[in-house]
This record gives sequence, C-alpha cells and structure tokens, in this order.
Amino acid sequence: MSGKTNLIGLGRDELSAELAAIGEKPFRAKQLWHWIYHRGAREFAGMTTLGGDLRRKLAENYVVALPEIITEQRSNDGTRKWLVGTEDDNRVEAVYIPEEDRGAMCISSQVGCTLACTFCHTGTQKLVRNLTAGEIVGQFMIGRDSYGEWPSPKEGRMLSNIVMMGMGEPLFNTDNVIKALTIIMDGDGLSVSKRRITLSTSGVVPEIERVGRELGVGLAISLHAVTDELRDVLVPINRKYPIEELLRACRDYPAASNARRITFEYVMLDGVNDSPAEAREMARLLKDVPAKINLIPFNKWPGAIYDCTPAPRIRKFSETLNDLGLSAPIRVPRGRDILAACGQLKSESVRAHKAKLADTALPA
Ligand code: SAH
Ligand code: SF4
Repeated sequence: MSGKTNLIGLGRDELSAELAAIGEKPFRAKQLWHWIYHRGAREFAGMTTLGGDLRRKLAENYVVALPEIITEQRSNDGTRKWLVGTEDDNRVEAVYIPEEDRGAMCISSQVGCTLACTFCHTGTQKLVRNLTAGEIVGQFMIGRDSYGEWPSPKEGRMLSNIVMMGMGEPLFNTDNVIKALTIIMDGDGLSVSKRRITLSTSGVVPEIERVGRELGVGLAISLHAVTDELRDVLVPINRKYPIEELLRACRDYPAASNARRITFEYVMLDGVNDSPAEAREMARLLKDVPAKINLIPFNKWPGAIYDCTPAPRIRKFSETLNDLGLSAPIRVPRGRDILAACGQLKSESVRAHKAKLADTALPA
C-alpha cells in the first residue's frame, strides 16, 4: 500500500496522538472516530465536519483501509464467507451467518492456529502470525460494507452479533483481540454491545479472567471431552491446563452469571466422545458452573480422521443432558457447502503455497 499509516485499529488514545503529531488538537479525534466507525467513511475528503486543511493533512499522512477481499462466497443457506488478504500476503477467513432478521459475524484472530486440535481444519495449518487489531476490526467492517449497514444502525441490524470463533486461538493474541473488541464495542462507533459478543477459547486458562474483567463479553469454552485422558488428545492445550483448572477459571469468570451463562462447545465425534455415560459425566462436571451446552455436529473436511455422530445419537446425548437439568441445543450446521462451518476454515498465503510446491519439486 501507500506507506501511509492506516487509522483502522488505532485506539482512541492512539488516534489523538496521531493528530497531535500533525499539529492538530487531540479533540479532533472524536470527530474522526465518528466518521470512521459510525459513518463508515473511508475518504477524508468526505469528512465535512473537519476543516479543509485538516482533511488535506490527513490525506497526505493517513489512510482508512480495510483488508483486501480476495473472494466472497455465498452458501445456498445465505451464509457468506470472505477470504481476506493482509498487506503482507497472508489470508484469513471471516464468515457471516444470517438468521431471519439478525445474524452473527464470525471473526478470525490468527493466521492459522497456535494449537492443533485433531478434529479442526484450522489446526492442520501452522500458525503464521497473530492478526493486528486493525485486521480484526476490518473483518467486521467488511461484513458491515456487505450489508450497507452505515451509519451504525441503532436497531434492526443484520450484523447484530459477533463470535470470535474463526481461525486461531483468540487468547494467544489477547492484547490485539482486546484492543479490537474495545474499538468494536465503543458506543460512538461500531457500537456492538458486549452482550452480543462471544469469545471462544480452547482453554487458555491464565487469560480468561482478563477477558471478563476488561471486556465483559460472553465466554465459550471448547470442551469436547469430559476426561483429561481424551481431552489431552482432542484439545492438546489440555495437557497444560487440564479440565479442573479450566472449570475453576469458568466459575471465577467475572462476566458470568445465571442470566449470562458460559457456553460449553462439544463437537460430536462418532464413537469418540458421544456416549450417554459421557453426557452424565459432563452434567456432573458442570453442576456448579453457570453453563449451557452447545452440541456441534462434526463438520467434515478433506483428510479428517473422524466422523460425525449419527443424528439420533446426538439427540439422545442432548436429552440425557436435558434430563439432568442442562440446556444442550444442537447447533444447526451453516455454510457447509462453502466450507464455512465450524472448524472448516483454512487458508494459506499464496507465498506459503508456492513455497510448499517448490519444496515438493526439489530432488530427493
Ligand atoms: N480457537 C478457538 C476459537 C475457534 S471456535 C476455540 O477453539 O475455541 C470454533 C469452534 O468450532 C470451536 O469450539 C472448535 O472446537 C469447533 N470446531 C473445530 N473444528 C470443528 C469441526 N470440524 N466440526 C465442528 N466444530 C469444530
Ligand atoms: Fe485452533 Fe480452536 Fe481449531 Fe483448536 S479448535 S486448532 S484452538 S482454531
């Protein structure tokens, strides 16, 4: 790009500092913020409440730029998936899942993933790097552009919710994720309430408390197994932070209550973690946690070593939990036809792909 500084992803203080650096009064940051995040403006020339001089100065030094959209795919169920390109030629995916009159934007936090959960497509891709706050905010703004939701509507938004459930482990990129969500939650801008945001983690225990304290967003935990023995295999971070420690962090989560329960995600793997005894054990483990469960039918991807539990047995699992007093709805898979469903996201940069091809071409 131009070599000019991109303003997307700067916090309010940083924006003030930039203005000070070009000899402007820091309070102008408030107006600029409103243009960028409330109105969705990208060109300084159109920011008519700023004086002509300031607009020219801004245009000389800065840009307001979203990550590039490489492709946009639409599923036959209305799900949209964007392959998003970063300035350094990396790729991530963002997904929008519509309901009738609202919907959730599913956002990525890393290029690839630090971890390697055995049932997850993203986990087969090695971590390339953390996304910046601007790249995280930018994914949400791409969805906003797609629905033309500018200026930020007070109500009746299609992009009503956000789930940090895309590629990567958000709590291995906590600083940037917190920075991005703070921008997204700001009431003078994109203005998405913390009640409408859910962050999903595989269980990075030491970071969980901070999310509740600094953001107060909803928490989702990728549980997927009820014994350490099995969870060590499926979700390998369990070897570092076993189930008991994870559940302690959940009980202590500052933003949880009976009115705002923690979601436990549980992927249904045929013959692996789906017996009635495991449902009963889950109810026992969660008995003193404000919990609700989300059963996720396993989404297949090329090369996966698991199959999805057949529907009647998923229903049985759900009923067993219900009988023990736990809400356990079965998630309806969305966007499977464009590989946009949970755990199907994967992207590799053109360069990485070329490098791999070059490697394979080398003589033995
Ligand atoms: N890294 C974070 C955020 C990703 S969220 C985490 O693991 O929580 C994506 C959710 O989909 C997680 O609960 C993940 O465990 C689940 N998932 C991964 N692969 C899946 C698959 N193939 N089918 C269904 N769910 C999957
Ligand atoms: Fe990473 Fe989450 Fe996939 Fe595990 S499930 S590999 S933590 S994205």
